[in-house]
Amino acid sequence: MRVDILGVGFDNVTMEQAVAEGVRLLHTEGAHYAVTPNPEIVEICRADPEAMEAVNGADLVLADGIGVIYGAKIQGTPLKNRVPGIAFAQKLMERMAQEGDTLFLLGAKPGVAEEAARRLEKTYPGLRIVGTNDGYFQEDEPVVEKIRASGAAVVFVCLGAPKQEKWMRKNGEATGAHLLIGMGGCLDVFSGRVQRAPEIFQKLGLEWLYRVAKEPSRIGRVAKLPLFLVHVAGDRRK
Ligand code: UDP
Repeated sequence: MRVDILGVGFDNVTMEQAVAEGVRLLHTEGAHYAVTPNPEIVEICRADPEAMEAVNGADLVLADGIGVIYGAKIQGTPLKNRVPGIAFAQKLMERMAQEGDTLFLLGAKPGVAEEAARRLEKTYPGLRIVGTNDGYFQEDEPVVEKIRASGAAVVFVCLGAPKQEKWMRKNGEATGAHLLIGMGGCLDVFSGRVQRAPEIFQKLGLEWLYRVAKEPSRIGRVAKLPLFLVHVAGDRRK
């Protein structure tokens, strides 16, 4: 059952349940995709019906970020857990490495996905990264073909929101992959170019604060969090 927050339906799952479902999907015929919306993405969806359709059309909608958890609580429909996209991907890669599953990395600036691939293969021995492509391409078709030719079972799609969600909805099937996951800036982190917040910030749900401190230009994006909570509270009154 999904928990609806301002039109976006979140799967009410723990991290373990999410990973188990990811593993199941990657071994299931046909294309599936997962999204990890935070409050900023929910706000984008409210203004962009195509983004809303792409997010709700996903097979797995994971609550990335403490804001979504607060929103669910305000509504009186609490979610079990927050399932940050990056942690979900890490746990999934552990499982993929055990089974020798294949992965394609799509997105970020030229060179980043290759660097991420090198590091991930060291961290997860047994994981097979069968291809990479940067996220600044003009036409979808050659990229789709490259993924199809790689035979990857899983694709990390890191093009930023809502581009990545729309991209997966449109092209997922044609890539031949079984599971595509929209993950924003994760390749920048996996490549080592961007540091994830220290654990204490993660535990307190203050990762957003750390990122703003590092990159003050993100303040406009984070400012959407209070707005999101106001919208949730308003929606509840209705
Ligand atoms: N990006 C991309 N193609 C584009 C626009 C963005 O590959 O056309 C990449 C960008 O380089 C970055 C990621 O998408 O690696 C988005 O990162 P951001 O920090 O905005 O995502 P978040 O994790 O906050 O959703």
